[in-house]
Amino acid sequence: MLELDDVSVHYGRIQAVAGLSFTVAKGEIVALIGANGAGKSTTMRAISGIRPVSTGRIVFDGEEITRLRADLRVVRGISQVPEGRGVFPGMTVAENLDMGAYARKDRNNLQADLDRVFELFPRLHERRSQAGGTLSGGEQQMLAIGRALMAKPKLLLLDEPSMGLAPQFIQQIFRIITEINEQGTTILLVEQNAQQALSRADRAYVLETGRIVKTGTGRELLADSSVKEAYLGVA
Ligand code: ATP
Repeated sequence: MLELDDVSVHYGRIQAVAGLSFTVAKGEIVALIGANGAGKSTTMRAISGIRPVSTGRIVFDGEEITRLRADLRVVRGISQVPEGRGVFPGMTVAENLDMGAYARKDRNNLQADLDRVFELFPRLHERRSQAGGTLSGGEQQMLAIGRALMAKPKLLLLDEPSMGLAPQFIQQIFRIITEINEQGTTILLVEQNAQQALSRADRAYVLETGRIVKTGTGRELLADSSVKEAYLGVA
């Protein structure tokens, strides 16, 4: 479904992503893990089109999208939940969710999709008339994911979904991510919480200074001694 071929991204003269090649197959959950500054968020921005690539190709659903505008990538079926969430603070929960559907051509099943989001996140239903900016961190994360789902993505990009969340919310968010995947959405996820990410992912890539240094199934990487030492906090 998604293929990156030798992709590099620069910020001025700094190379944040250095010749990255990887794939995500339809139906998978794939995780990118790595230390701060490894280039994970930059990779996500390159895929969603927020950040231009300097070299390489990005192919989605059999078509090259390397230079396609970000909003047109949403129309093609790529939706990103950015790091820091990006909830519209002055809009209600319901209005935020509605914004997620702006790029959709078929607006017929909006109510059904809204119902689906409220089923996944009953808390959002309770708070539907509350301003987005007054939600707790965990609730804002739910809202950001719900808003991305309103675009009916084929591929959902999640940047640090567990960041800043209390332990019980982390479990819940990952359970919901698995559920979204089981309902047919392919997922690429960036995480500092390698333990959770690897236990939920079909496959994962380990990034260091903009390069892939290791890949395997989630289970293989959970058992890998260098991954354990560097990312799971166990020697
Ligand atoms: P983290 O887990 O800390 O979010 P990351 O793996 O997502 O890290 P990126 O945010 O992709 O890493 O950053 C990769 C590199 O690019 C870092 O060295 C960072 O300082 C640099 N970088 C990121 N954004 C910018 C920017 N807007 N301008 C200049 N350099 C940037």
